[in-house]
Amino acid sequence: MTTDILVIGSGISGLTYAIKIAEHHPEIELVLIAKDELLETNTRYAQGGIAVVSDFKQDSFKKHIKDTLIAGDGMCEASVVQFVIEEGHQRLKELQEWGTQFDTLKEELHLTKEGGHSEKRIVHYKDQTGLQIQEALIKKIKSFPNVRCLENHVLVDLITDHHTKTKNKKCYGAYVISKEKEEIITIGSKATILTTGGAGQLYSHTTNPAGATGDGLGAAYRAKVKIQGLSYVQFHPTALVPKIDGATFLITEAVRGEGGVLKNKHGKAFMATYDLRADLAPRDIVARAIAQEMQNTHATSIALDCSKIGKKQFKEHFPTIYQNCHQLGIQVPEQSIPVAPAAHYFCGGIAVNEYSRSELDGLYAIGECSYTGLHGANRLASNSLLESLVFAHRAALDSKTYISEEALSDEFYENLPVWKGNLEIAVEKMEQISDLKLRLRQVMTEYAGIFKSIEGLEQAETKLGVIYQESQSLYQKLKLTPQFCELRNMVSVAYILIKQSQQIKSNQGTFYNADYA
Ligand SMILES: Cc1cc2nc3c(=O)[nH]c(=O)nc-3n(C[C@H](O)[C@H](O)[C@H](O)COP(=O)(O)OP(=O)(O)OC[C@H]3O[C@@H](n4cnc5c(N)ncnc54)[C@H](O)[C@@H]3O)c2cc1C
Repeated sequence: MTTDILVIGSGISGLTYAIKIAEHHPEIELVLIAKDELLETNTRYAQGGIAVVSDFKQDSFKKHIKDTLIAGDGMCEASVVQFVIEEGHQRLKELQEWGTQFDTLKEELHLTKEGGHSEKRIVHYKDQTGLQIQEALIKKIKSFPNVRCLENHVLVDLITDHHTKTKNKKCYGAYVISKEKEEIITIGSKATILTTGGAGQLYSHTTNPAGATGDGLGAAYRAKVKIQGLSYVQFHPTALVPKIDGATFLITEAVRGEGGVLKNKHGKAFMATYDLRADLAPRDIVARAIAQEMQNTHATSIALDCSKIGKKQFKEHFPTIYQNCHQLGIQVPEQSIPVAPAAHYFCGGIAVNEYSRSELDGLYAIGECSYTGLHGANRLASNSLLESLVFAHRAALDSKTYISEEALSDEFYENLPVWKGNLEIAVEKMEQISDLKLRLRQVMTEYAGIFKSIEGLEQAETKLGVIYQESQSLYQKLKLTPQFCELRNMVSVAYILIKQSQQIKSNQGTFYNADYA
């Protein structure tokens, strides 16, 4: 199969990018693939909202920039922070024009506040902002005849000079598993846009869905593309401790924004002893404080006391949290919610320029799989959906020019080599793969999680080495499967994270090595 542009991923980044191209360039053909259904993304689970300056009387770009830089702890790219925040307003308008609804009050956008923000500036739709965006974008993308959406198609590897035996230093598309046909297909494309999201599944406790296994990062690593800042993993401070259908459910920061208070086992509100901003301090500080309190008091959770929030207000603003808690027998807001930190967001990723171009020509990365410099050492709450919108727009501008001026001839893409090795795949569930994934998560959680140490990282490297060897010997024996692709990517991403962590000699933002405290 060949196309002008291959978009890998159907979250806010992939869909926004594809809409931008499809709307303005009906002559360009796009193929968009997603490893599951289009709806199943990190995006759909976003609760809090998008950080955008819209109340210019009270708020300003300057304040949002300052908050972002503070959260990023000296590691943000100041010029990137500035344009993302200044362009956000226009990108939000487009999202609304494409059918996304946001909560309003007296015909103005209803704004809420989250940790690290000095003003109320989070635009949201109840506590289901991501789902609202995702559904609107899916509806919109289906209206374009020049976009072909392929669900259940899994990226295996990017096609590069390594496969074509050329020396152009470009990306030519991807090898992809079709789950339905049970085979590996070649998709040749002039530009390839990775929007594969994060890798929360590297950890035992994560707010991310099962598909967040860092596939784009793994593929880019194998294509020798620069990956930056992977050690900066944001743990969300407040994930609900009892799981729902096996998944960890997030309690948005907005609950603390509306008056929720964290209390330890002894009923003491402890955040003010860690940071002057108390419960609304940036996430890294709150997550570490909770982990520390849990260690000190030998507790498996911390209480989020929501009793200051009226029941009507709670139910209206946080309907999903209300429903899920009640389903578990937690009578919010009267009763506290048991919470603990969980891996939430990868601040690092594929290094890209201000137009989302990676180091490899023809390869772009947008959203959580990318490293733009916006988040530095710690992402400010609700800045990630914003980043996706702004960079999708910029990538669309740049890639349009790339495919007309820098790409190779159509014949080149039509004659790419097929996948070397078995073209068939096995789709059956394999216990060994699940077991290796489980062990990898345990290693990462114990040795490369919220608290790291020199010795811990060494242990992690050794134990990951064993997992790598075992996965390699499985690869020799078995056919390639979607699950094996995930395992392979998880091992690669874990390896980069550990190696990059070993290089860091000071603690900033989300990165904390006890030996450098
Ligand atoms: C519970 C939760 C709450 C959040 N709340 C907020 C919030 O309030 N505000 C905010 O700004 N951010 C929030 N975030 C973060 C934000 O949702 C994500 O960073 C953002 O949605 C990422 O979008 P994306 O398009 O880059 O990736 P995703 O939305 O994760 O989409 C990834 C896509 O890539 C596809 N994919 C992955 N691997 C492959 C493969 N091998 N082959 C083919 N396709 C593949 C997936 O199928 C999916 O379609 C939250 C995250 C979570 C998990």
